[in-house]
Amino acid sequence: MTAFTTENESGIAIITFDLEGEPVNKLTAAVRDEFTALLARLRADTSVRAIIFQSGKPDNFIAGADIEEFTQLTTQAELESMSRAGQEMLFAVADSPKPIVAAIHGACLGGGLELALACQYRICTDHPKTSLGLPEVQLGLIPGAGGCQRLPKLIGASPALDIILAGKSVPGVKAYKLGIVDECVPPSILSRTATAAAERLVAKGAPQRPARPLGFKGALLDRNPLGRRLIYRTARAAVLKKTGGHYPAPLAALEAVEAGLERGGREGYAVEHRKFGELAVGEVSRRLVQLFFATNALKKDDGVPPGTATAHPVRRLGVIGSGFMGSGIAGTAVSTAEVEVRMRDTEWPRIGKGLRASMSILEGQLLRKKITRYQLERLSALLSGTTDYSGFDRIDLVIEAVFEDLAVKRAVLREVEGATSPETIFATNTSTIPISQIAEPAMRPEKVIGMHFFSPVEKMPLLEIIPTARTSAETIVTAVHFGRKLGKTVIVVRDFPGFWVNRILTPYLNEAGRLFAEGTPIEVIDRVMTRFGFPVGPIALIDEVGLDVASKAGKVMHEAFGERLLPSDVIAKMLADGRTGRKSGKGFYHYLDGHKTGADERVYDLLGIRPQDTHSPETIEQRLVYSMLNEAAMAAMEGVIRTPRDGDIGAIFGIGFPPFRGGPLRMIDDVGATKVVTILRELATQFGDRFAPAPRLVEKAERNERFYPR
Ligand code: NAD
Repeated sequence: MTAFTTENESGIAIITFDLEGEPVNKLTAAVRDEFTALLARLRADTSVRAIIFQSGKPDNFIAGADIEEFTQLTTQAELESMSRAGQEMLFAVADSPKPIVAAIHGACLGGGLELALACQYRICTDHPKTSLGLPEVQLGLIPGAGGCQRLPKLIGASPALDIILAGKSVPGVKAYKLGIVDECVPPSILSRTATAAAERLVAKGAPQRPARPLGFKGALLDRNPLGRRLIYRTARAAVLKKTGGHYPAPLAALEAVEAGLERGGREGYAVEHRKFGELAVGEVSRRLVQLFFATNALKKDDGVPPGTATAHPVRRLGVIGSGFMGSGIAGTAVSTAEVEVRMRDTEWPRIGKGLRASMSILEGQLLRKKITRYQLERLSALLSGTTDYSGFDRIDLVIEAVFEDLAVKRAVLREVEGATSPETIFATNTSTIPISQIAEPAMRPEKVIGMHFFSPVEKMPLLEIIPTARTSAETIVTAVHFGRKLGKTVIVVRDFPGFWVNRILTPYLNEAGRLFAEGTPIEVIDRVMTRFGFPVGPIALIDEVGLDVASKAGKVMHEAFGERLLPSDVIAKMLADGRTGRKSGKGFYHYLDGHKTGADERVYDLLGIRPQDTHSPETIEQRLVYSMLNEAAMAAMEGVIRTPRDGDIGAIFGIGFPPFRGGPLRMIDDVGATKVVTILRELATQFGDRFAPAPRLVEKAERNERFYPR
């Protein structure tokens, strides 16, 4: 395999990395060997004075290590030596007597950035596709080829930890501001600038880097051991708060950074490769890597057998209903898919409100510097509104987000069919009504599908797509592709009440309501679940979703599935007191200017409850988690999801199920179906029949089967 080509241009060797047969450059063991040999050759070649390292891929410098290859290694010793080999390769780069300039365009991540950091000079482009970062902690690992050593030395402990501990990437311009690169230029002059820099380095040696732009406070803390101790302590506390202690990688990275800065390079590199080996064989990393592969596989799965149908392009989107969800969908569509969006509502004031809400999504992006003012102007011109169906004859896809009412939705479907072309797809964003019921009067049922977004649309990463038995493969594939263009992780699920996410969420939220009704304090319930690894507890989640929305969905699920999903009566009583959750500033919690300030003690009196810690945290956890596991098993076996992979990804991206646990179905496999059944039976004896294990889960346990292959 040849991954590298070299040209000698008047004494400057230009190495171009272009890994054969791959869309992006990855670092493999073979690449490492080839590069090390190449470097030795150039070192010995007296005609070479300096080296430029660049990529031959269009918008990618180096994506990082080859994760597939890395998963082949199984022992801690193997993984530790892989990290050490990476470090050694980069020692050769850093020690090169001939200056090496990294010319970076596109993604420069993980091992890619570590390589660039070892070079004597770095230039990146200011193109939006250029980003530099160390995402290793997202896979439960740490930068293991010197990243924990070189980045802090270069830009200071505090900004380096900011990147390493969060697994963050920064755009080119930001990388320049932080001092990660020496220059940031437009792509058109990247190679010219690199050549000039190489000549300069040959003539004058490595540059004296200017003092880092850390600011007064940064300099004060970063440049003395006592200040740095404070930085480590603060970073550690922040990590523990964010991860609840469930993710060991950021803490290990912190140790490796600290060792290098306080006890010297040797120690730093040693801690780094040792920790890398330890983490790479650990459970958390294994789960996160599995999740990485699962999401990648999902990106290639269109929800129908390969080759069945091709997606139609969606250039113009129609949105019916410019309320909360409609405006969120419209704003997301213009900002991420850059398509024309025409919103229809019944009255102009509502349209005005919807357009303003969509615009606020763009403004949020401007504020976070994701887009420029010019882009905002351009994108906002894609939005328009109407009270009739004018312009709908040119629309490719219509997403309906009107009131949750079957008759209204059917009427809208008929109107849309009358106003659009025979090719137009009609998608409904209903959260509870079966798609087949909405599609019943359709003239073109093959064009009707469910696209279930989560709120807030611009933030929530999941989209459930729900075909009916009559939906065509083209419609499914088109909806899936468009969902991905909106930046969503898409799962195709069966048309069953609650689909997948709300189905498994319902018993969990019901149980939280019951625990509360039994006197378990609000904050105790939520704390048990955040300790389990959820980003928010179930009671806080009900406040977020809105008690009115939760109550409506709860009723539908009860009607569909009977006693097992009987809602607790808590929410109805809260609603009678005008408590709809965060949106009204009044729910289980208090809100001040939209911020949660603590549990609202008045709700105990309102419901005639005396708060008391009757249940142990273990019992609370089991009641909540196992109600979800049981429902997940049941729904999976009814075929609501196409594969366990889709179910677990849906739970992680849709509800925030702790990623390090791999999802509810993976968790059943890990705990063992037999033990899950035993626990459910105990819970059923103690707390009621709703915990009775799903019959097919019992069968699975008896046959010693799993959801995933071993
Ligand atoms: P909303 O009340 O904020 O908005 C509904 C909008 O539809 C209103 O502006 C209303 O004027 C408009 N409308 C009603 N009838 C219409 C018609 N015939 N033609 C044009 N416009 C019409 O409601 P929402 O929260 O945005 O919910 C919309 C849909 O999305 C519902 O089906 C709901 O179940 C679903 N959904 C909601 C959430 C959520 O968290 N709110 C999440 C997922 C799905």
